[in-house]
Amino acid sequence: MRLVILGGPGAGKGTQAKLLCNNLSIPLLALGDILREAIASETALGKLAMPYVKTGELVPDIAMIHFIRRRLLLWDVFNGWVLEGYPRTAFQAEELDFLLDDLAQEIDWAIWLKVPTELLLSRSIQRARSDDSPEILQRRLDLFEEQTLPILDYYEYRNKLLTINGDRPPEEVQQDILKFVNS
Ligand code: AMP
Repeated sequence: MRLVILGGPGAGKGTQAKLLCNNLSIPLLALGDILREAIASETALGKLAMPYVKTGELVPDIAMIHFIRRRLLLWDVFNGWVLEGYPRTAFQAEELDFLLDDLAQEIDWAIWLKVPTELLLSRSIQRARSDDSPEILQRRLDLFEEQTLPILDYYEYRNKLLTINGDRPPEEVQQDILKFVNS
């Protein structure tokens, strides 16, 4: 199973992605976590990503696409994955499909956790890391609306979009997702 989780900051992507990986026994690729680890261990990707992650900007598509291209070739994700935080732009979504075509694979579902904007903001404020200023949180939300929301059309057009009401307790959201992906 190959699943993409889409949602704004605070939509519950991380929680749902982890639950899905446990329930379906498939590995998780959480791009935000991967980038933070890369920054902490000062790898080439980490050095490149640091100024963007610190300010809430998106790391340039070229770097992200290059990273995913290499990562999805590794054996541990050959039989499936949950991608969290990727794709985040229409360009990343298209390039992901090109890559999967090359590998004779395809996405099963792009799961959109739909949560009202006001709730995204209040949840993000609650869980903000110490260095997240209100400006950075707002910037993340703006980028989500400008860059990531258009991806919904991309997947809808390809009959891959699964819209899930994310404004409910996490277990309920998870059961709803499982009902669809297992049917
Ligand atoms: P997250 O934990 O998913 O909110 O990601 C934290 C930060 O990592 C984001 O604010 C971006 O700076 C960067 N990031 C994560 N995923 C991507 C992506 N697919 N494209 C570009 N930047 C990303």
